[in-house]
Amino acid sequence: MTILDSVDNTSITDAIALDGRVVAHNYSPLPVVAASAEGVWITDVTGKRYLDCLAAYSAVNFGHRNPEIIATAHAQLDRLTLVSRAFHADRLAPFCEALARMCGKDMVLPMNSGAEAVESGIKVARKWGTDVKGVAAGNGNIVVARNNFHGRTTTIISFSDDETARRGFGPYTPGFRSVPFGDADAVAAAIDDDTVAVLLEPIQGEAGIIVPPQDFLPRVRQLCTERNVLMIADEIQSGLARTGRTFACDHWGVVPDIYLLGKALGGGVVPLSAVVADRDMLGVLHPGEHGSTFGGNPFAAAIGSTVVAMLERGEFQERSTELGEHLHTRLRTLIGHGVQTVRGLGLWAGVDIDPALGTGKQLSTRLAEHGVLVKDTHGSTLRFAPPLVVTADEIDWAVDQFAAVLAEARA
Ligand SMILES: *Cc1c(COP(=O)(O)O)cnc(C)c1O
Repeated sequence: MTILDSVDNTSITDAIALDGRVVAHNYSPLPVVAASAEGVWITDVTGKRYLDCLAAYSAVNFGHRNPEIIATAHAQLDRLTLVSRAFHADRLAPFCEALARMCGKDMVLPMNSGAEAVESGIKVARKWGTDVKGVAAGNGNIVVARNNFHGRTTTIISFSDDETARRGFGPYTPGFRSVPFGDADAVAAAIDDDTVAVLLEPIQGEAGIIVPPQDFLPRVRQLCTERNVLMIADEIQSGLARTGRTFACDHWGVVPDIYLLGKALGGGVVPLSAVVADRDMLGVLHPGEHGSTFGGNPFAAAIGSTVVAMLERGEFQERSTELGEHLHTRLRTLIGHGVQTVRGLGLWAGVDIDPALGTGKQLSTRLAEHGVLVKDTHGSTLRFAPPLVVTADEIDWAVDQFAAVLAEARA
């Protein structure tokens, strides 16, 4: 496949106009039309190359078309792709065993999207509440954090604070209590005898890469243990080496009861998510009580096994730590030159721009013209999260482009 194959008569304006006619308008994409990609580079339909600093919201942590992952995908495509869970398939148990071991847990519930992992985690916590903790059926409540992002299903948006994500989609699912992120006293006050879980992103991604105070997660862990409540860590975006550790929780030495994983677990090839926990929690599910046609399919499981093997080598965590240090150092030199704050850990940076210079969307569009792809989160916050295979030189180049865009906007 060469760039020329994809150019075919497609112009960028034609491609975007067609999107506008036939694709539901639930996104507002930048005017970039990707045709191929390799490593950290995306090539558009005209042959222009972009340095990808979004990595599909961390689903492409190992780089576009990572050779090890692609080799697994090709091999598995030639063997078996899907039989449903009505039968056993040889790829699923090895994947679950490896993933459980990496998480220090007993079992895995395989699903597809991140939102499904969150939904499944909520169901497991509620069932654990009634079957194990002894909460009356239908009374279990779950404590969540303000400004959370856990996905787009009806139940999940029920405890979102994002009015755009909620408006018009009611009635909402009850049973959630929202407290300020980072406030362990508020978590303690929200827990009562009917609380079955505390559900948190250890670092809030969509909220703008918000790192909590040092004592927050350790205190939540302690509260959950003391009050017999499950601590559920949504590591769908923060996990799998993005922050320099396998899990963001590792930075605080915290082990949740339940890990929710997704995004990078599918290697940038398939949707693959998981709920990972010990048997006394996942064991509350019996045949017929939960399921998914595609969940745990052999194609995804083979890819997931390769992803786990890659993570066990530790090299992606190391790269994220070292190069993340470099990225943060370089971005911090722009503070006072259009940048107000830089937050985050590893190769994950939330950058607040001086709102006078334009919206996040406007600056992302200009940065794309300079060949760097980022995504705005809220208002004037940009997120830099390149694939973990990025090099120091590529980071320097991306930050130079960003500095140039800021300089133009200030001129
Ligand atoms: C992306 C994300 C989800 C939802 O994942 P989907 O695959 O888009 O459904 C859930 N939680 C967090 C923290 C996420 O970043």
